[in-house]
Amino acid sequence: MLVTVLSTVYGKLGNRKEVVPVMTTLSPSPLTASDRCDRCGAQAYVRVTLTSGGELLFCGHHARKHLPALESLASHIQDETERMDENAN
Ligand SMILES: [Zn+2]
Repeated sequence: MLVTVLSTVYGKLGNRKEVVPVMTTLSPSPLTASDRCDRCGAQAYVRVTLTSGGELLFCGHHARKHLPALESLASHIQDETERMDENAN
């Protein structure tokens, strides 16, 4: 009797579809002085993650130049150009 009840309860639990929110929010690592623009080698302030899985780094100048064309290909754009003033050269 008890076994029957338990198996019924566990059977229902087993059939229940648990909707667990999946946290996929990866906090991207900040760009550092060792990250260099793919075009000119200057310090990179923008990281473009492509939907294809690739990754591109741009300085402020080349980010402004290439981002409009890349936005449709990018899955994520990490823009740290506001930090450029801190490291003005
Ligand atoms: Zn550049």
